[in-house]
Amino acid sequence: MMRYFIGNWKMFGVPKSINILNKINLFHSRDKNRNKYRIIITPPFTLLETYSKYFKNKKISIGSQNCYQKEQFSSNTAAISPYMIKSVGATYTIVGHSDNRSEGDTNKMLKDKVNFSLKNNLKVIFCIGENKQEKKNKKTLAVLKKQITNVLSKKLNKKNIIVAYEPVWSIGTGELPSADELKKTTIFIKKILKGIFKQKSPAVLYGGSVDGKNVESFKKIKEIDGFLIGGASKSSKKFIDIIKNYYR
Ligand code: PEP
Repeated sequence: MMRYFIGNWKMFGVPKSINILNKINLFHSRDKNRNKYRIIITPPFTLLETYSKYFKNKKISIGSQNCYQKEQFSSNTAAISPYMIKSVGATYTIVGHSDNRSEGDTNKMLKDKVNFSLKNNLKVIFCIGENKQEKKNKKTLAVLKKQITNVLSKKLNKKNIIVAYEPVWSIGTGELPSADELKKTTIFIKKILKGIFKQKSPAVLYGGSVDGKNVESFKKIKEIDGFLIGGASKSSKKFIDIIKNYYR
């Protein structure tokens, strides 16, 4: 089963930060497990073109952290479309990260982002996750189901979609779901996705405070197809430790 280790840099990185990716790439090229997983990094827009070109024939894929909900060109100041992202060589985009949902991304916007990204041959990393209040009110599964069914539909190519389950309360906090809880939630997410995509679910990742230590407690959950990693992806050592410890 192919696994994914995705690093989301958020607002981090300047041109010389490519050294971090060079170290990760070197580790990957020597890792005996390298055929079991893919590495995707999402730097800020400012670095997309140089990094995409640099890693074109290497094993690290480059993606954007978001995209605008229009296809090609428009008069929206500072907006960047899927077409523009693809044109500089990136191959993935995140859609629906909780940072952007909390800044106003609606389901309608997310639907357009997903559709236009796929149409422009960008693979989509679609983020879902309940917040603390929703969890407290035992609404997690209902929230996740809505987030999925409001945006994904059977006409989309599931091969180009990765779903990342990121409980909002776990992002950047060090708080984690228990392994039991996470297993149940992941199975539930896959069940919903199988309902949409004719019995075959896209890959489902976990994201939220993943590091080299706690990744060990998640590796027994076979339903999890990989990890979306924020904070720990800004250090080559921390990111590599996650992969090393996952396969140890
Ligand atoms: C994220 O922002 O997608 C994320 C998972 O962050 P962190 O790993 O820092 O919790």
